[in-house]
Amino acid sequence: MSSPAFLPQLTEQEVRALAQLPLEDLTPRAHAVSLEYHGTSVFLRGLIEATNHCAQNCLYCGIRRNNAKVRRYRLSREEILAIVERGFAFGFRTFVIQGGEDPCYTTEFLASLCEEIKNRTAGKAAITLSFGTKSLAAYRSLARAGADRYLMRFETADPVLHEKLRNGNSLASRLKALDCIRESGLQVGSGFMVGLPGETEETLIQNIMLAGKINMDMGGVGPFIPHPDTPLRCAVQKPIELAIRATALLRLMLPHCHIPATTAAGSLDPLGREKMLAAGANVLMPNITTVEHKKDYQLYPGKICIDESGFQCVSCQAMRIASVGLSISWDRGDALRLKERSHVW
Ligand code: SAH
Ligand code: SF4
Repeated sequence: MSSPAFLPQLTEQEVRALAQLPLEDLTPRAHAVSLEYHGTSVFLRGLIEATNHCAQNCLYCGIRRNNAKVRRYRLSREEILAIVERGFAFGFRTFVIQGGEDPCYTTEFLASLCEEIKNRTAGKAAITLSFGTKSLAAYRSLARAGADRYLMRFETADPVLHEKLRNGNSLASRLKALDCIRESGLQVGSGFMVGLPGETEETLIQNIMLAGKINMDMGGVGPFIPHPDTPLRCAVQKPIELAIRATALLRLMLPHCHIPATTAAGSLDPLGREKMLAAGANVLMPNITTVEHKKDYQLYPGKICIDESGFQCVSCQAMRIASVGLSISWDRGDALRLKERSHVW
């Protein structure tokens, strides 16, 4: 795994020591590091859930191929562009376009979409794509077409668990794809879920170590929420605190990383996103997908904000951000990759 070394990172011993701290001692440390590196700004990214068709069959995911109950949809190029134009006029400067591994969204389709988004926003909007594993050639052509970033979680650092939960896809192949993303010049987003069935305390340590090794520019931590129409329907829901602890450890491992307070955290606990922001997160992603499709993109049950437009969510999110002493930033919020800092925790 190539890893541009520009920050001293925590050793495994340090991560183990931090992981033992009570949450009330750990989260203020992480929040302080976030303030030092990112100030009080929380970047807003407009999330567009473009397609819920997926050729993959991950055991944890509500839109997996074998879930026949899902009402499938796929936004057209013009539908996506219309959301982007509205979002751009509203003030968003990053669009995160995500979906399943939909064979109809070819590399050519996505590349042409990126070109048109750049055209219609005078090159001012950053584009993050998240459509799963692709080849180096595909990531390169997306980067050439104007994509700025690519988001693909490694999901879990435990190779045996990974292969089982991702229906035979290996951790090695996911990491190879992340290498290709970096090599293509795209900013690298990754991350993991916490509370997966079969996970141990050691998995969290290894997730943080792997996040450090990948040295990701953006990193998401999502609490796993069992979906009733998946093979993991009977899994036990782990408490939100596990995801808050993981967020704080991730912040201490990667001070420069852009870390979202995830929707899954807000779905599991009404104050989940505020807790993540107070534990080192510095990004929020209002879901600006057309309201009629939001309920059909349920990777996990109980997803919040599915009945209102993401544009309405902004004022609600501004209040949540203010409640933890932070404020909205409408900047693009690119990777701080070139910023060399030393940090002592
Ligand atoms: N298809 C792409 C992107 C969409 S899935 C991909 O798999 O990379 C986005 C993320 O949703 C996944 O990376 C996974 O971490 C998360 N996810 C899926 N099912 C989930 C569940 N049941 N609970 C919480 N997060 C889930
Ligand atoms: Fe498809 Fe992503 Fe869900 Fe896996 S997690 S089934 S790749 S949408």
